[in-house]
Amino acid sequence: MKLPPHHRNGGFQNNHGDFEPKSLADVIRWRWNASRRGLPPRPTEPIPTQPADLGFIRANHGAAQQPAVTWIGHATVLAQLGGLNLLTDPVFSERASPLSFAGPKREQPPGLTLAQLPHIDAVLVSHNHYDHLDLASVRALAHQPGGSPLFVAPLGLKAWFQARGIERVVELDWWQAERLAGVDIVLVPAQHWSARGLNDRMKTLWGGFAVFAPDCQLFFAGDTGYSRDFADIRERFAERQQPHQGGSFDIALIPIGAYEPRWFMQSQHVNVEEALKIHADLGAKRSLGVHWGTFELTDEALDEPPRQLTRQRADLGLCEDEFFTLAIGETRRLPPRRV
Ligand code: ZN
Ligand code: ZN
Repeated sequence: MKLPPHHRNGGFQNNHGDFEPKSLADVIRWRWNASRRGLPPRPTEPIPTQPADLGFIRANHGAAQQPAVTWIGHATVLAQLGGLNLLTDPVFSERASPLSFAGPKREQPPGLTLAQLPHIDAVLVSHNHYDHLDLASVRALAHQPGGSPLFVAPLGLKAWFQARGIERVVELDWWQAERLAGVDIVLVPAQHWSARGLNDRMKTLWGGFAVFAPDCQLFFAGDTGYSRDFADIRERFAERQQPHQGGSFDIALIPIGAYEPRWFMQSQHVNVEEALKIHADLGAKRSLGVHWGTFELTDEALDEPPRQLTRQRADLGLCEDEFFTLAIGETRRLPPRRV
């Protein structure tokens, strides 16, 4: 059987242009330049946070549910749609790192604690980088009262979960779908890579998710550079997103942070300009900017992405609701999809 082109050398490769993870020399060059120039600058404004509306969040399930997204921080979003509670890339720990005493430290607490979460039906894991796949968080979720959520992950990650005693896992290739209570969860391509150690680069797959529920269609980009993948995704789903069916994604979760310096980051992380291009390529009705404000991973200030977004959104003539950010802990209720 012929493998699809993104299956390569016992691992995986991106669709559009071969990706080489940066060399150790490049990492050293980046870090050395950053420390010499005192980067990243400290944020000039506090990252917006607010107490979560727990009453609404807990009551918002079942038939009377209103589609809503709550930003917990970084790429972690609680998405309530299709009668389900979904969680993207859950990271609740103090550090996005294999070590508890070193590595990027949380700058603000999560918008909801693990104990405050409603019962989670499914967890969408985009890839295995430490700021997206956190062992303590997925372990706690697997032991939530009422039983483990379904973990949906890219190819190669099922064994990682099972080795840690987490059994309710499906792994998907790009474009493969898992159906949960009438909601289709499809893994889609992204321009990125994977690694947890030094010898497993690109050995497990990475990606984003498209979620199709009757009341809401959600897109989650995971981590990604800019590529033609997003135009491909729009084309692939054109049949289920025609105007008479309610059109394109009701909400897209798109990363807007961790993009400087460009020579190092461009192939793996979009900047705000490229995030806006993804929004346009998908034809999404509205997008939420994530992957900022929580962990200081790169050379731009932690509070820079939303400033850029406000400026560039105005330049493009978009209104706030078309591409917005939330305070950590904040919920945005979405108009239910009309068919
Ligand atoms: Zn990543
Ligand atoms: Zn990331």
